[in-house]
Amino acid sequence: MANPVLPSSGVLSPLGLDSVRLAPGFWGDRAALNREVTIAHCLDWDEREGWIPNFRGERPRRGREFSDSEIYKLLEAMAWAGHPALPALAETVAGAQEGDGYLNTRWTGSRYTDLEWGHELYCYGHLIQAGVARLRTHGEDTLTRVATRAADHVCRRFMEGTQTCGHPVIEMALVELYRATGAERYLEMARRFVERRGLPALADIPFGRAYYQDDQPVRQAQVFRGHAVRALYLACGVVDVAVETGDEELLKAVEAQWERTVARRTHLTGGMGSRHADESFGEDYELPPDRAYNETCASIASIMLAHRLLLATGDARYADLAERTLYNMLATGVALDGRSFFYANPLQVRVPAVPLDGVNHAPEGGLRSPWFDVSCCPHNVARTLASLPAYLATSSADGIQVHHPTPAEIRHGGLAVRVETGYPWDGAVTVRVLEGGRGRIALRVPAWAKGATLARGGVTREVSPGYASADGPWRPGDELRLELPMTPRWTFPHRRVDALRGSAAVERGPLVYCAESVADEPPLGDVAARVAPPVEHHVDGVVELEVPVSLGGGEPAGWPYGDAPDGEPSGPDTALRLVPYHRWGNRGPATMRVWLPVG
Ligand SMILES: [Zn+2]
Repeated sequence: MANPVLPSSGVLSPLGLDSVRLAPGFWGDRAALNREVTIAHCLDWDEREGWIPNFRGERPRRGREFSDSEIYKLLEAMAWAGHPALPALAETVAGAQEGDGYLNTRWTGSRYTDLEWGHELYCYGHLIQAGVARLRTHGEDTLTRVATRAADHVCRRFMEGTQTCGHPVIEMALVELYRATGAERYLEMARRFVERRGLPALADIPFGRAYYQDDQPVRQAQVFRGHAVRALYLACGVVDVAVETGDEELLKAVEAQWERTVARRTHLTGGMGSRHADESFGEDYELPPDRAYNETCASIASIMLAHRLLLATGDARYADLAERTLYNMLATGVALDGRSFFYANPLQVRVPAVPLDGVNHAPEGGLRSPWFDVSCCPHNVARTLASLPAYLATSSADGIQVHHPTPAEIRHGGLAVRVETGYPWDGAVTVRVLEGGRGRIALRVPAWAKGATLARGGVTREVSPGYASADGPWRPGDELRLELPMTPRWTFPHRRVDALRGSAAVERGPLVYCAESVADEPPLGDVAARVAPPVEHHVDGVVELEVPVSLGGGEPAGWPYGDAPDGEPSGPDTALRLVPYHRWGNRGPATMRVWLPVG
């Protein structure tokens, strides 16, 4: 099965790229753009920046100590996309592998002298994930052999002892290689890496051990903390180990950490990681919109984690968060032309970013950049969009479940259906049976979709958030129609989220909206919104919204603190246009805000 995550047990089984085929639509278009533009864009930059030439032995070596991992993520994207340049790039990588399986262009000659920051095992993790992708889409070849030799080298070198890597990812990679090959040493190595963490396994560092989740054993942790990508990649590996070893306690520990993190450390967009400092989670309720870091990679890691927890438990809340993160983070991370990327994803930008010479923007999030010195996000977007069909639907003994409706054909167990929908712009989702069969067809009803209905054969009934289903047998031409209410809605923060008090945001369906001020449009500094029903405008296939606001008040005359509460803005009333957050920043430098003060 062509699938990045294939657990041997769980409430739901994933359907892979061979079972789910995207058609033109919100995600199908993005997957096509990724295949045709973004992968080539990355390949071009990786060559030009020297990160591929590093594997040919070109010196001086260029790029950061972990730049090998970017080539592996690109190889993974190519494997899922069936890209013709994969074999040649795999040969280049193979040329740098040493006789015992060791492979790293930075540390060759001084291997494993800095596990805290060296990223050697991290790089292997991405190499192994690329190898598994190739194995599952093509079968054995140079790339799979390089990855397996590296994994065997890791098992020989690290099976005994107390060491691990400063940046998790190898844990989930090894479990997946175990799933793909059946070789138990990979699972055992992953299990040991998970259990070693927090004993501690790494040296103390100025950031503190929580930065790389080595402050306490994973079973004892209460919440995700430290560097967000590290924390979420580790959690993915922990779920994988727990599922394959039947360790219920370990799975429950991650579920509890996820629940608290979602309740207290997650932005409306699904973004995780409040702090620019250390690219880390903040404290509970530390969720400032303007200083939100929300790395694109952390959101991808969150989607990967939610998917794993969904497969293990069948609980719709994991798919709900995945949906929020897919539409408001993954889709935001890449420009509409597929050639530039956000690294950080704040919810407010006060000053339009200044375009530089096309590369190496500080990853602050005001303008997408074609490249970064640390280009984890572009490659991560590429591999995720290339494997996206695997995240959309699942199967069980009952039948199939569609978690994320988008135009696609889904085949499983003799049943074939076509999903037809204009989602997320339109709330109607039709599942048309192409080839009949038995089994239940279930469609996720998101938590926000109050009053949704499901129609079959002229009978319509209201359905609650969770899963709405209908039972077979199915004949070709049978139809199931889900109607999700798409009325725009105002969303308010809990008072504990100090930075957002007194403000509100607008959502419609799965989309978070924002005000974006390009060029001459009104400044967003002191708008005050009236909580009134937003007006919809359909513009070139996109739904924009308009809300009433008052402008004015202006800047304070001096010291911005006084002895009475600030009054309402006194300026004129006007209408403020809101656009989907994922589309912002595609019209040049702009200011932007998701949360609007309520006046
Ligand atoms: Zn990144």
